[in-house]
Amino acid sequence: MDIDFACTMCGKCCHDLRLPLTVSEAIAWLEHGDEVQLLCEALPWPEEPAEDNLQAAQKRRRSFAAMSGSLPARIVVILAGTHPGPCPNLSDDMRCGIYEQRPLVCRIYPAEINPFIALTPAHKACPPDAWTPGLPPLLRAGKLVDAGVAQLIQQSRDADEKDVPIKQQVCAAMGIDQAAVSNEGFVAYSPDRADLLAALRQASNEPSIPAMPPTWHFVSKRRTTVDVLVSVGALSSLVDANSAPRFEYLGFSVESE
Ligand code: SF4
Ligand code: SF4
Repeated sequence: MDIDFACTMCGKCCHDLRLPLTVSEAIAWLEHGDEVQLLCEALPWPEEPAEDNLQAAQKRRRSFAAMSGSLPARIVVILAGTHPGPCPNLSDDMRCGIYEQRPLVCRIYPAEINPFIALTPAHKACPPDAWTPGLPPLLRAGKLVDAGVAQLIQQSRDADEKDVPIKQQVCAAMGIDQAAVSNEGFVAYSPDRADLLAALRQASNEPSIPAMPPTWHFVSKRRTTVDVLVSVGALSSLVDANSAPRFEYLGFSVESE
């Protein structure tokens, strides 16, 4: 697949944010006075997949092991810079006010970080004229043309893996232990900014590996999901039964409602 692209500076991707951040970016975001959420999803992991299952290997790299009742699970936690409306760093002329320090994900957009997701212009915020054939090449035969962007994507994947134990430690310190079922949505925690900043600094500066996998709880809006998980020994319940302060359920589609 070939795709041409040039940013039109429309600023759409800098509005209504849930920007995935690395731990160091999240610390900077919080220090700047902005909000960071923890988006949590859980994957049932009854047994280790075959070594040649590359998609499972990728999920494994960016998650930590947990138990949900008697069911082994993997937990993915995303630190997301969250802001309704325009990004606090966006200037009136749609330029980034922290251009040299902007997060990796802003440098990479609209390319995809996940190697198993193909870049689809229709799924991006960019207007149609940003994809006009004849603009600078973005993809040729499905491969990124710009080696610099490919390097940033690798840097983002490496940080994702390196940050896993820090996120695990932060969740344990903050009592965060509920997650949506992978592919159904996310549980979004919005802890107090100062508390989250302190927990991220502590976990970054003084890492500690827990002796036992932590216990996590699956939440879902679908009764069938809950029943299946409970039948295989997991801790699971409908999201309404788990409502907690600073906890929000973000479903992917109406089917999950
Ligand atoms: S940090 Fe800059 S590039 Fe990223 S969303 Fe904000 S304004 Fe846009
Ligand atoms: S949405 Fe696309 S075209 Fe608009 S500013 Fe963002 S990257 Fe550029």
